[in-house]
Amino acid sequence: MVIGGGLAGLAAAIRLLDRGCRPIVLESRRRLGGRASSFDDAQSGRTLDNCQHVLMGCCANLLDLYERIGVGDAIEWHEDVRWLRPDGGRDVMRPSRLPAPLHLAGSLRRMRLLDRAMKRQVRRAMWRMLRMSAAARLAAASRTFDALLDDWKQGPEVRRLFWEPIVVSACNLSLDRVSARHAVQVFREGFMAGRWQATMGVPTVPLVELYEPAARCIAEGGGEVRCGWSASGIALDGRRAIGVETNRQFVRGEAVCAAIPWERLEAIADDRLMAMDARLQGLEQLGHSPILGVHVVVDGPVMDEPHLVLPGRGVHWVFNKGVDASGAQHLHAVVSAADAWMDLGPDAIQQRVLDDLAAAFPDLPGRELLLCRAVKERRATFAATADAEQARPAAAPSPVGAMGGDIEGLYLAGDWCDSGWPATMEGAVRSGYLAAQAIAGGPGVAASPQPGWLFRLLSR
Ligand SMILES: Cc1cc2nc3c(=O)[nH]c(=O)nc-3n(C[C@H](O)[C@H](O)[C@H](O)COP(=O)(O)OP(=O)(O)OC[C@H]3O[C@@H](n4cnc5c(N)ncnc54)[C@H](O)[C@@H]3O)c2cc1C
Repeated sequence: MVIGGGLAGLAAAIRLLDRGCRPIVLESRRRLGGRASSFDDAQSGRTLDNCQHVLMGCCANLLDLYERIGVGDAIEWHEDVRWLRPDGGRDVMRPSRLPAPLHLAGSLRRMRLLDRAMKRQVRRAMWRMLRMSAAARLAAASRTFDALLDDWKQGPEVRRLFWEPIVVSACNLSLDRVSARHAVQVFREGFMAGRWQATMGVPTVPLVELYEPAARCIAEGGGEVRCGWSASGIALDGRRAIGVETNRQFVRGEAVCAAIPWERLEAIADDRLMAMDARLQGLEQLGHSPILGVHVVVDGPVMDEPHLVLPGRGVHWVFNKGVDASGAQHLHAVVSAADAWMDLGPDAIQQRVLDDLAAAFPDLPGRELLLCRAVKERRATFAATADAEQARPAAAPSPVGAMGGDIEGLYLAGDWCDSGWPATMEGAVRSGYLAAQAIAGGPGVAASPQPGWLFRLLSR
């Protein structure tokens, strides 16, 4: 039994098929994909994603899942990352032919967004990250990235213009809260290890189309996906999970994989289960971090590049969602770690977003606004703080412990579990693969792409 048809649950089910299991996925909503999904917007009549979802070449497990469910071709890859300068111009981060980690050095040198002193600071910090030993990276889990940037003498401007746009978007948490381990991981595995790892992937279809094919694959493999089935309890026989209570009927299973966010698990697990399983004892350490996505449609083209980073502004990224047959252009603005936006009303959000976009696209103020649809995701991800790291549970139940061991047959998955990654689609898929491995054996997570030779030589 897999509870949850988000990325973690789908990944677990797909891997379980490989091992000869017949997984039954219970998903309470009508659609798959969980937090990475689409909705039908009554106001515009469009199918809109809850938010733009971006991946990178280093997301080996997510890409493995996409290949397995046959949607690998629905991702468009971009080597360039475009940054808005205060003068309205663009800086382009583009990999050169130099071996990683030098492939982005030329772009950094040419960036007019940063002055010479800031570039020196970035190079110094990158070098320090490259040379951090595995033990130092692990120890960094208990510190914030801000504290590390203090050690590396990074000034306020370089934090605001360079570190913040990358780290806040990748980890969905501010520099003064995010665990340094994850921020360092973003740069080492995402930007420094290789050219492919740093390539940015953007789906070319609505998110729902990416994940619906998983249902067919699971059915063809002998499993089942039941949408509209909501788990309301996990049934125990003594210390063992034996099935799932639902809004329809009891469903028995040899193993139960709870691939739902922790607050949903707390809601369906009874007190006895919560008390008996040591993996669930630290959940109060976990908190949420919000993301705001804003769909903007105007009556003519204003943006001709695929995306843009807006350093130092409220909106962090804007994505070009294309021009439709009537000539209207669809833009999507994203604000990560959006706590300060959550209590704003639609008018205030619209005003702020359009102000930021106008700084990037001079034709925008002259266009008629056809749609401005803000989607607030208050519980977008877990907050990847230092405290959260210690509370993230393993997939498999431990057979030993003060309470006699964890609940047998109960496996945990979800981006909040201990996947080694921050709250991302890759983290969710990794957690699903780890749960499948714990249930039925098999390979676990996919190998990361091989870092370049110079990276391997220089890094510790
Ligand atoms: C706005 C936003 C933007 C994001 N942007 C990015 C990005 O650019 N890149 C990136 O890598 N990640 C991004 N993420 C994070 C990414 O979406 C998540 O990390 C990932 O989708 C989590 O997957 P999951 O399977 O762990 O959880 P979920 O997606 O939450 O899946 C859990 C599923 O369980 C179902 N469920 C819950 N309770 C029950 C129940 N009782 N019975 C049955 N089913 C139940 C839910 O309906 C849901 O479908 C973003 C997230 C948000 C919200």
